[in-house]
Formats: sequence, structure tokens, C-alpha cells
Amino acid sequence: MAENKRSQKTQKRPEYQGPESAKARLALELIERLKQEYPDAACSLDYDDAWKLLVSVRLAAQCTDARVNVIVEELYAKFPDVEALAAASPEDIEEIVKPCGLGRSKARDISACMRKLKEQYDGKVPEDFDALLDLPGVGRKSANLIMGDVFGKPAIVTDTHCIRLVNRMGLVDGIREPKKVEMELWKIIPPEEGSDFCHRLVNHGREVCTARTKPHCERCCLADICPKTGVGAE
Ligand code: SF4
Repeated sequence: MAENKRSQKTQKRPEYQGPESAKARLALELIERLKQEYPDAACSLDYDDAWKLLVSVRLAAQCTDARVNVIVEELYAKFPDVEALAAASPEDIEEIVKPCGLGRSKARDISACMRKLKEQYDGKVPEDFDALLDLPGVGRKSANLIMGDVFGKPAIVTDTHCIRLVNRMGLVDGIREPKKVEMELWKIIPPEEGSDFCHRLVNHGREVCTARTKPHCERCCLADICPKTGVGAE
């Protein structure tokens, strides 16, 4: 895992290349339309402190955000701050978070992450992408989410909705690996738009451009500009 994380850090993110290419121009149009459709771009994980978003995003792997929002209430009732969670045993954390699935590894990561926050960062979440990536259980998707939502910095969050939609929309061509998708999107999404755009992709992916059923292109606000790549063949 440590080696994997080191290799994730070595690649610098590409610069935005401006609206020169067809993909970048399409991206600008998609961004504007999704703004109209989903004026409130927000994370669907509830949190009132940065460290809580770190906990929730770890719990959200292979679990719904709605379930995570319920489970963390019980977790924070028992362990209300970084100190308390850092002092808790992974077993005690697992007991509460196991309804989210993967309880043992999530509890282990949360425990180690909170200890590192306490010991190295005085209990604060670092405002630095590489420092976030170094935290146990935090990958690029989570680090980007924190940078965008907590610190208001440029961010591209390549979750499952994002990856499915940007392929269908023709912003990337048949790329499924999250980091590769992220690197392509940096080139064509204005940095200040990335975080909100990714939240809106989640909204659109849940409501219209769905995964399990056929996407609802007939009622999609993007239907006239989206190439619908792979739709019908998935
Ligand atoms: S037109 Fe269809 S494939 Fe394209 S974004 Fe809308 S629902 Fe998805």
C-alpha cells in the first residue's frame, strides 16, 4: 500500500489546457448545463468538521452515503473528537461501523488515520494533497474530495459515477482507471469548476444517467450534446 501511495504521488497533475480542444469545449457546455440542472452542488456525506469527512469517505467505500450518514451518528456519539477516535481500539470502531461493510479494514484505517492526525498534525486535517494521501485509508479520490470540499481548492473526484458519465459523455475515451480519468479531466476542466462538476456528476448519475438501468437519455438535459458513448452496449 505504501509503495502504491508513493507511486500515486510522483505524477504531477496536468495543467488545464484551455478551451482549445473539442473535449474542453464540450466540458464547458456540460458544466454550464449541469449548473442549471443542479444549482446546489454538495457532497452527500454529512459532516461539520474536516476530520469527519475523512471518516465518512472511508466508510463510503462500497456503501451508500445515506447509510454512512446514519452510522457516523452512533460513532460520534461514542467518540466525539479526533482524540477519542485515536484512543479507541479498532475493534470498538469496527463494532459500530460494520453495517457499512468491510468493517475490519475500515476500522483499522480510521483508527490509524486519527492517530496520525493527532500525533503529526495536532488533530487537524492537513491542507496539502500529498499529506492527505499519506494518511491511512486515504486515496486520490478522498484526498481530492477533502481538497475541494473542505479547503475550496481545485479537485477532480473520480468516483464510479464520474467515471461512467465522463465516458458516456465523451470527455474521456474508454478509460476506467480512476487516476487516468483524473489526469485527463485536469486538462479539460477549468480548475475552479472541478469539485462542483464532480458533485453534479454524482447527482446526474443517480437521477438520470444511471448505472443499473439504462440511462434516461430521453429526459436528460444533455441529450443533444452527449454522444452517449457505449449506451445500449453496456
Ligand atoms: S444523454 Fe444519456 S448517456 Fe448522455 S448524460 Fe444524458 S443520460 Fe447519460
